[in-house]
Amino acid sequence: MPDLPLGDLLELDRRHVWHPYGPMPGRQEPLVVESASGVRLRLADGSGELIDGMSSWWSAIHGYNHPVLNEAVRGQLGRMSHVMFGGLTHEPAVALAKRLVDISPEGLEHVFLTDSGSVSVEVAVKMCLQHWRSLGRPEKRRMLTWRGGYHGDTWQPMSVCDPKGGMHELWQGALPVQVFADAPPAAYEEAYADHLRELIERHAGELAAVIVEPVVQGAGGMRFHSPAYLRVLREACDAHDVLLVFDEIATGFGRTGALFAADHAGVTPDVMCVGKAMTGGYLTMAATLCTSRVADGISRGEVPVLAHGPTFMGNPLAAAVAGASIDLLLGQDWPTEVKRIETGLREGLAEAEALPGVREVRVLGAIGVVQLEHPVDMEAATRAAVREGVWLRPFRDLIYTMPPFITGDDDVAQVARAVCAAAREG
Ligand SMILES: *Cc1c(COP(=O)(O)O)cnc(C)c1O
Repeated sequence: MPDLPLGDLLELDRRHVWHPYGPMPGRQEPLVVESASGVRLRLADGSGELIDGMSSWWSAIHGYNHPVLNEAVRGQLGRMSHVMFGGLTHEPAVALAKRLVDISPEGLEHVFLTDSGSVSVEVAVKMCLQHWRSLGRPEKRRMLTWRGGYHGDTWQPMSVCDPKGGMHELWQGALPVQVFADAPPAAYEEAYADHLRELIERHAGELAAVIVEPVVQGAGGMRFHSPAYLRVLREACDAHDVLLVFDEIATGFGRTGALFAADHAGVTPDVMCVGKAMTGGYLTMAATLCTSRVADGISRGEVPVLAHGPTFMGNPLAAAVAGASIDLLLGQDWPTEVKRIETGLREGLAEAEALPGVREVRVLGAIGVVQLEHPVDMEAATRAAVREGVWLRPFRDLIYTMPPFITGDDDVAQVARAVCAAAREG
């Protein structure tokens, strides 16, 4: 069906195709994208192009149709698009794992490649629980996290998402019951640090690990917090025999101004998840990294293996483009680019602070957030942004952007104008 008329395509989409967090049949009319290049999405209805203020959910950091990434996929495609990873291995996966070990916080040595962020969190939880099980402490099987988090949509990740107002409230009672701390305040407060220490100490006997998104909580509310809390977590976890997991799926690869958000605090977690921007937004792949301590624990068990092995584990196409994307990032002065976008967003979003109905404007790295005092009128906000030539996807009371790192100054200004327009009309 190469030339499906637009009306038919939309009708088939509505009737048969599930979209993220959507009902069936669909109620909202999605925009049909025909192609994408640089920072722009070209719409199929002939209405022109939109700047992508979302980087396709944090992932397309180098923009679309990038010649270097295209070539990485094309080159790999000519050799093999996939082979199983059980009993076989290949250069793209090994080279990617080596890069991840080299650039991630010191001490993370081992890499488990998965096909999505949610699965990388499942693997992280499995690693932590199995570590304690192997050491004869199976009662250490709960996770602790702070409220306001988001870790994905499969079962274990849902159990550590914010239990209130998030997308997974429906599942309370069915999910594993985890331990929740209050949401982290933006600035460092000793009383909150004590709250974390106290909870970890009180539950240490049953805790396998603490899992958090470092510095920026993404889809759970776009909140920022002091990196100093990461050091508090590290110390408390060490003191009470609890592992520490950082979910860097949204924050990794430069988004917050550091290569990994953990770098803001100089902390190494025991386990770290990366995804989203890892492949430059080209293909679906994520990874779970761990220290030798975690791997050794698992190896000492009665079942000395990690019993996980996705069919498409280590997919060569995804691994090749991930390697190319990381090289592309490190081969440029990315901190300056992210800083430039941060400055542009700060300037452009300043006017939103004075708008009626705006609670707070916050910017960190290449992330800009306008939080309203009321739930966003999604349709009105989206329409306002599209009228300004920008694609945004607000949720709850939040209008936000994390544009590709290649977004030029004029385009950053346009994105900021669209965020302000969406805040005014949404
Ligand atoms: C997006 C996200 C996930 C889930 O990743 P998927 O690839 O969508 O499964 C997990 N954790 C964080 C912090 C995320 O932003």
